[in-house]
Amino acid sequence: MSYVFAPPPVVSAPIAGAAERFPVHRIYCVGSNYLAHAQEMGRSGREPPVFFLKPADALLPVEAGGTGAMRYPSLTHNLHHEVELVVAVGAGGCDIDSARALEHVFGYAVGLDMTRRDLQSEMKKRSAPWCIGKGFDQAAPLGPITPRARAEAIGAAEIALSVNGAERQRSPLSQMIWNVPEIIAHLSAAWTLCPGDLIFTGTPAGVGPVARGDLMEASCTGLEPLRVRVS
Ligand code: MN
Repeated sequence: MSYVFAPPPVVSAPIAGAAERFPVHRIYCVGSNYLAHAQEMGRSGREPPVFFLKPADALLPVEAGGTGAMRYPSLTHNLHHEVELVVAVGAGGCDIDSARALEHVFGYAVGLDMTRRDLQSEMKKRSAPWCIGKGFDQAAPLGPITPRARAEAIGAAEIALSVNGAERQRSPLSQMIWNVPEIIAHLSAAWTLCPGDLIFTGTPAGVGPVARGDLMEASCTGLEPLRVRVS
């Protein structure tokens, strides 16, 4: 096999405590999966789940103990943080039953669904796709993935985000409208899930802007923290 130019490199994420890396296939995201955030965005929270995608190469993987460097993206004057639990899919499938969904999970990580909110809002007004608001370069910072067997406390975990040391977001994961098995069941009814898929599971209330120079620190009980500086 020969190509007219070099094929793109495999996008991958670090795995906590392992030298092997997690090769990324697709990045799925759930929109508005916490009631208080749904309400702050003007919805009731009772709607069926909304899914969107980011390109795999929008991933900004951050090593354990490191600080990711995110360039302030073009075109926006309102870059928002959304801290989210990220599910890393290890075994694919379609029409996965929620009762067996966790068998498809490789592990969990903390991620940031970075959003050009002004552009997303403009697209919403026009009933147009959100790609320009959600799918830009470096739009998906991600910390190391903790394998499922070492993340058993995830059900009782809290997710949080601070900016320059001031807390902006904090919520128990139990406040999700659609839990992880339900998300996997819904997603796999619409697409064939593949090993390497990442699922950003939605953000709690408290989203807001970041500026150049800001340090975002995201955490989730039992998982590796994620630090990203905007420049
Ligand atoms: Mn989000």
